[in-house]
Amino acid sequence: MRTAFIAGNWKMNTTRGEAVELAARLAASVQTERTRVMVAPPFTALDAVAETLAESAIEIGAQNMASAAGGAHTGEVSPAMLVDLGVSVVILGHSERRALYHESDDLINTKVVLALGHQLDVILCVGETLEERQTDKVDAVVLGQLRAGLVGVDADRMARITIAYEPVWAIGTGKTASPQDADAVHATIRSELARLYDRTVADTTIIQYGGSVKPDNVKALMAMEHIDGALVGGASLATDTFLPIVAFDT
Ligand code: PEP
Repeated sequence: MRTAFIAGNWKMNTTRGEAVELAARLAASVQTERTRVMVAPPFTALDAVAETLAESAIEIGAQNMASAAGGAHTGEVSPAMLVDLGVSVVILGHSERRALYHESDDLINTKVVLALGHQLDVILCVGETLEERQTDKVDAVVLGQLRAGLVGVDADRMARITIAYEPVWAIGTGKTASPQDADAVHATIRSELARLYDRTVADTTIIQYGGSVKPDNVKALMAMEHIDGALVGGASLATDTFLPIVAFDT
């Protein structure tokens, strides 16, 4: 009932040339009949990668977006600019945006609502720090971020939202939540979606796991009942690691 969704976040990596080369290699190999696949290059490579992937089924994501539709926001990139480049998905609330750029739940929610208003799909990231995990605050933190991020999003528009559960302590560290621990949080998120919306929204919303997903752990993660996809950082930067993740079910 839920189509697997594997997304690569290239972060602040790749020049335009490197991005095009990587995208071209992915386009040549990715078969996406069963799995939805997206890559999020840096802003500077979006147009070139969109052109490279134009004939492929791989979608283009942005890693961030302005909280305003346009105007005097020096250095920002608006939703309309992203759509103009061929972007169909935007990652919002990534832990690096929250921690390094002090993005609050309110700001992230503003961006979520704005993105949906421009027909962009959203990957809304939530996740706890190591300290929050060690002090038993996982559910409170994750559900708090989820509720705050979804303020003003009605059930109809939830079809455009993917949730990415990304424990902060697992991102870029090589540490992965065990499939069972991750699935428990995913199940909690799904129950909360049923409470906030209804059973249909809960059952159809894609919940990705993110945090050091690699070819050797993706199968076990994806085998869990509530894990529907992966948001992949480091391993999305090379075909020999990203392609086996995309082909997790073969
Ligand atoms: C991420 O950036 O969202 C991420 C999960 O990174 P990594 O796969 O490198 O841990």
